[in-house]
Amino acid sequence: MVDSVDAALAQAATAAERGADLVEFRVDRMPDPARVAELVTRSPLPCILTCRPTWEGGEYAGEDGPRLDVFAAALAQPRPPAYLDVELVAYERDEAFADRIHAMLHASPDTGLILSSHDFKTRPPDLLQRGDAMRQATACRVIKLAWRARSLRDNLEAMELPGMFAQPTIALCMGEFGLPSRVLAGKCGAFLTFAGLDDQTVTAPGQVGVATLKSLYRWDKVGPQTSVYGVVGWPVGHSLSPHLHNAGFDATGYDGVYLPMPVPPEYEHFKATLSAWLDEPGLRFQGASVTVPHKENLLRFVREMGGEVEPLAARIGAANTLTVRGDGKPYASNTDYAAALHAVCDAMGITPDGLTGRRVAVIGAGGAARAVVAAFATHGASVVIYNRTLEKAEQLAALCEGLPGKVVAAGMGHLCKSCCEVFINCTPIGMHPNVDETPIPDWPKVTDRTVVFDTIYNPLQTRLLREARAAGCTVISGVEMFTRQAAAQFEQWTGQPAPRELFERVVREKLAGG
Ligand code: NAP
Repeated sequence: MVDSVDAALAQAATAAERGADLVEFRVDRMPDPARVAELVTRSPLPCILTCRPTWEGGEYAGEDGPRLDVFAAALAQPRPPAYLDVELVAYERDEAFADRIHAMLHASPDTGLILSSHDFKTRPPDLLQRGDAMRQATACRVIKLAWRARSLRDNLEAMELPGMFAQPTIALCMGEFGLPSRVLAGKCGAFLTFAGLDDQTVTAPGQVGVATLKSLYRWDKVGPQTSVYGVVGWPVGHSLSPHLHNAGFDATGYDGVYLPMPVPPEYEHFKATLSAWLDEPGLRFQGASVTVPHKENLLRFVREMGGEVEPLAARIGAANTLTVRGDGKPYASNTDYAAALHAVCDAMGITPDGLTGRRVAVIGAGGAARAVVAAFATHGASVVIYNRTLEKAEQLAALCEGLPGKVVAAGMGHLCKSCCEVFINCTPIGMHPNVDETPIPDWPKVTDRTVVFDTIYNPLQTRLLREARAAGCTVISGVEMFTRQAAAQFEQWTGQPAPRELFERVVREKLAGG
């Protein structure tokens, strides 16, 4: 978005340094022929020139006449813009306007016309007709269709559109659901994707910065054969999983990309989105991490689709991993279970067999607690579940009947700090931003044989862990479980060992504000 020639040129130079191939100058706020001519002439990158009117979501409030003068001045330069972006509506409604555009393009054959259409509210009902009108416009060199996605499913249409027209096509979804269309544009044969200079200075909702697109979302590596993965949850905007898995794909040379996948809580949304993504053959959607509130939905979905559920995930009643198997069938499994188990056993210097008869206190009875309780009871530990809502603890204990270890339920008030060897926090108490809270205050002095594991990983050191360490306990951070469950997912999907040290470094850097 151009405010002055010098500032815009400096930004274009930065964009070039960060790996952009082309820069779009939005001159909505500076519709001045002489200054725009200077801007395009001195641009360090080939450019798209756009002066977007307010009625199409831009900031230019003037008439079309002065806008045409700006275009004419720019296209008359010895180094004219590579592309001129003109809205389909303006081009179609006024023959004189279209004629002037044609005349300019005729005199400046190095400039191509992008005909564009934007809907900032929804998918327009006449989206395909708009594309068709652009296709038929003789001067149109590139088709651009952008609309606000209503769900992740809209991205699929954006990915199909480039294959439908003879002209190079840009098809992008805006808004929180639209990121896949931006990241996967190259995979689907789209002409280009847009990025902001950084994540903060973007010009459309849902856009990311060029560095994020290139380094986090692997823009230069994503191609037609790239497998797509994601984290399905609501919300997922702050998930660290894309940072881990994309770094892992990079480090191992695996041809994959991993995206945040926001899906609203209801099962119908989950089913509709995942079915559509799995059915899109060109997408190569191969798996997902599934988080709150969809862990139970994943089990139901995979059963309904005729896929297989890992017996353990079926018993726990929650899965966190979707893997598409070689025959195309979905498989649901739970990697939290083994992650929690091995994090604790490694800290205790024992194998899971050594848990027989040990006393373990689990605080909480939600999704994380289910995996943790089942893991320890399966290996013979005696587990007490302490939960705010006693009934939920009792339900979880009942689920574990028949496992080798005894599982009993108790109210939070009965938590006893000396009667267990292992304490595991499976509640959000102490999680950012409520970092001054702890589920277990006032630790007595204990031996280092007492192990305290907080499944929370943000912050890295919770109050629970700080105080337990000061009292002499061995402590384990939730990062251990987080990176282990992610590593198990990575291995299921790629068939390669996961770079767990890298995962740990990435999580620690991100949480430290890197
Ligand atoms: P969940 O299904 O919503 O369960 C939350 C549990 O915490 C419930 O038992 C709930 O008790 C209890 N709880 C919530 N707020 C409480 C409060 N203020 N006081 C007392 N009890 C409270 O959540 P979840 O998926 O199990 O996740 C729980 C925690 O595990 C999260 O903090 C998350 O960070 C962590 N986690 C970590 C990993 C990892 O990889 N490190 C993976 C999964 C989860 P009620 O039953 O009474 O509501």
